[in-house]
Amino acid sequence: MICLLLTIFANVLQTGWTGLNERTFVAVKPDGVQRRLVGDIVHRFEKKGFKLVGMKLVQASEDLLKEHYRDLRAKPFFNGLIQYMSAGPVVAMVWQGLDVVKTSRKMMGETNPADSLPGTVRGDYCVEVGRNVIHGSDSVESAQREIALWFSQDELHCWEDHSIRWIYA
Ligand code: ADP
Repeated sequence: MICLLLTIFANVLQTGWTGLNERTFVAVKPDGVQRRLVGDIVHRFEKKGFKLVGMKLVQASEDLLKEHYRDLRAKPFFNGLIQYMSAGPVVAMVWQGLDVVKTSRKMMGETNPADSLPGTVRGDYCVEVGRNVIHGSDSVESAQREIALWFSQDELHCWEDHSIRWIYA
C-alpha cells in the first residue's frame, strides 16, 4: 500500500523519485544478450547495492527505438543504431537507489569503449562504439522518460528490501 501511494505520488510530482527512490533505465543491448553478458551485468548492479524493480526480455520495435533515441535522429549513425538495436532482443531493466543514474553511467563507462576504463562494462566487454553492449539513462529526466516508454506501471515492482540498512546508514 505504501509502495502504491509512493508510485502515485511520484508520478504526479515527477520529483518523487529522488534520494533512495531514484530510478534509472538500463538495457543490455542485443550484442550483450548474444554474447551471454546479461548475468554479469545484472550481477554488477546487484553487488553494487542497487534494487531491481523491473526486468524483461524485449524485441524492441523500430518505432520504440526511434522514440527512445529521438535526440540522435539527425546523426549519421542513426539508421545503423536502430538496425543494431532491433537485431535481437534486449534485456530492459529499471534499477533503483541513491544516485543510481550517475553511478550507473560510471559503471557502464564511456560511449566509446576505447575511452572506457577497465572495470566498467564497456571497458571490459567491448571494442567498438557501434556495439557497446549496454544503455543507461544519462539524466534523471531521461530516466523518467525512458522508464515510461519501456515499462507499464504494473511491470514495476515495489518490494521490501531486507538489506537496506546494510547498504544505507
Ligand atoms: P550513450 O549510449 O553513452 O548515452 P549516446 O546517447 O551519445 O551515448 O549514443 C547512443 C548510442 O548510439 C551509443 O551507445 C552507441 O550505441 C551509438 N553511437 C554513438 N555514437 C556513435 C558513433 N559515432 N557511431 C556509431 N554508433 C554510435
